[in-house]
Amino acid sequence: MADALIPNAKYSDPCVTAKGEPRASVAWSGLKTLWFNTGTLCNITCANCYIDSSPTNDRLVYLTRADVEPYLAELTQTAEIGITGGEPFMAPEIIAILDGALARGHTLLVLTNAMRPMMRPRVQAGLADLAARYPGRMTLRVSLDSHDSAAHDAERGQGAFAEACTGLKWITAAGIPLALAGRKALHEDEHAARDGYRALIGSLGLALYAADPRQLVLVP
Ligand code: SF4
Repeated sequence: MADALIPNAKYSDPCVTAKGEPRASVAWSGLKTLWFNTGTLCNITCANCYIDSSPTNDRLVYLTRADVEPYLAELTQTAEIGITGGEPFMAPEIIAILDGALARGHTLLVLTNAMRPMMRPRVQAGLADLAARYPGRMTLRVSLDSHDSAAHDAERGQGAFAEACTGLKWITAAGIPLALAGRKALHEDEHAARDGYRALIGSLGLALYAADPRQLVLVP
């Protein structure tokens, strides 16, 4: 996939760089997570988005089920399939993509902002159906830049925090496994950040534990 995206002679030799130096490499120790990017379009424009996603950035076009299937077919073991974007639930074939991975026995970790693209009735119905057919095998990990609404909205836009909270409550009500990707503010240590998220989780009635680093992933 990388060659298709970067048709550049720099990458023509897998072992030697364009300068004739040996490429750095990491010894293969097995597959843990296979990531797919569903495209760069997103319903919002975060100030610090890692990939400059926005409602107009279509540099990476939407991923389709036909794009994904050959890679899944190559896997000789079950694995965690990670789905990111952009906002994955904007991709028209996202439910079919998720279904394809689950049908092959994999588990899913889907990153989302839990906003309007996920909350459309067609997507909600698709997620509820997948959760019923593959119980416990699909986790939605929601990005919440802060447990403080003003700090989150400063990054993501006015009203983003409230909309994400509505999405979080829907995920919980639908019985879909949930995780949060949060951030530590500059003035917070890990303990303070987890306490802040713990209070928010309690107020929203979410089904997750703030002390568990897999359920609440914190980045600086
Ligand atoms: S929600 Fe995620 S993908 Fe969308 S702009 Fe923000 S950081 Fe980027």
